[in-house]
Amino acid sequence: MKLKDIGEFGFIDRIGEGCLVRRRDVVQAIGDDAAAFRTPDGEVTLLTADMLVERVHFLLNKTTGFQLGYKALAVNLSDIAAMGGAAREAFVSIAVPEDCPLEFLDDLYEGMRALAEKYDVNILGGDTTGSRADLVINISVTGSIPEDQILLRSGARPGDSIFVTGCLGDSKAGLHLILNDIEADSPELQALITAHNLPEPHLREGRFLARADGVHAAIDVSDGLSSDLGHILKRSGVGARIYEERLPITDPLKHFCERFGFNSAEYAVSGGEDYVLLGTVSSDRSKETARQFLSRFKRPLFLIGEITESKGMVMARLNGQEETIRPSSWEHF
Ligand SMILES: [Mg+2]
Repeated sequence: MKLKDIGEFGFIDRIGEGCLVRRRDVVQAIGDDAAAFRTPDGEVTLLTADMLVERVHFLLNKTTGFQLGYKALAVNLSDIAAMGGAAREAFVSIAVPEDCPLEFLDDLYEGMRALAEKYDVNILGGDTTGSRADLVINISVTGSIPEDQILLRSGARPGDSIFVTGCLGDSKAGLHLILNDIEADSPELQALITAHNLPEPHLREGRFLARADGVHAAIDVSDGLSSDLGHILKRSGVGARIYEERLPITDPLKHFCERFGFNSAEYAVSGGEDYVLLGTVSSDRSKETARQFLSRFKRPLFLIGEITESKGMVMARLNGQEETIRPSSWEHF
């Protein structure tokens, strides 16, 4: 069955089920000209949008509908997490090629609903239209946060410790396996593919950091550590030193790099789509913040370096030498 067999309204009925997981704030969901919802008193509204285009951002023969839906929503939730906010309402617009099977679209929404339910996010509407060639998915998500808690890219200060909320590079390794049709013949390789296909937005970690004393700036790692740290440095007018020995690298990534002859530090610095949070915390609060993070999440907050007054990004290598890192051209070192 194709979309045209049931029409846009049939499709809306079909996907509308299960889209509301937090009803108390919803005045009108899917089914009217616009959605109406309440926002928490005294908080500011965050709004983010992200568009995914077939053949530019994903390949239909390399993903399931479920994975695509899950990831498309996850990248938006991750942007709310990066501001420290709670994600609230999602709007999903899709342009569907004529030959796209309806089962694929069902699967796509299943993936989105699975993630939305996990993080208490309503899917409140959107638009469905035809496409001459490629599948396009455009998602907008609102979030909310008390104004004095917002984590911006511009807040980093010299002396701050730089942290990440999870390991780096797994998603890039997973993408390498997928694009080169390498069979995931071990649990380690499967873990890397899962990291790429089903990233987990660090919403709870973002709320924790926004409430913590001394956290000054944050961003989510979508383009890779060097690029995303570069955004913080640029907006804050500062520099950074990171330490190769402190880069958090999973056992699956070590295993992958040994087996295929790659440098795991390079994957950690240049790999994108990890969707962990990267930020800065004042040095006198860093140890306590890391201690509380560990007790709350049972995972470490990795302190990987410090913000410097002198501009630019350097990495202290294992051999003690310092090398300049440039966003996205790090492979040249
Ligand atoms: Mg972002």
